[in-house]
Amino acid sequence: MIRVPRDLFNAALSVSGNSYAPYSNFHVAAAVRDERGRVFAGVNVENSSYGLTMCAERVAVFNAVTQGARGIREVLVLALDSDEPVPPCGACLQVLSEFGDDDTVVYMVSWKSGRIDVRRLGELLPSKFRLKGRSME
Ligand code: ZN
Repeated sequence: MIRVPRDLFNAALSVSGNSYAPYSNFHVAAAVRDERGRVFAGVNVENSSYGLTMCAERVAVFNAVTQGARGIREVLVLALDSDEPVPPCGACLQVLSEFGDDDTVVYMVSWKSGRIDVRRLGELLPSKFRLKGRSME
């Protein structure tokens, strides 16, 4: 049986009711753990101009960075409306790669089914963009 860190799960769950998703009705909450063990949460925030929508994962990362975090060790994505766990989107994976590394753990949880998937960031985004192309070496 796969387990997820309780504090990450609780952090995501505690803000999940604040997810603002009136257009997609796809509510997501996320939590990240920084290099000092601190936990930060976020929810997706949609906009009537769809392109301005921000995912829960990036809100959580930006919240962490705002508080001084510079390393992301763990990520939990809590999908409220999906029967399947959902991975971070490509944009979120790239942002996570800025502060995490290939070993950063990504926990994906479906609230509806209880299904859990666990991957490493390097598995989800094996060829991340880097200035100077370092990831392609
Ligand atoms: Zn995303």
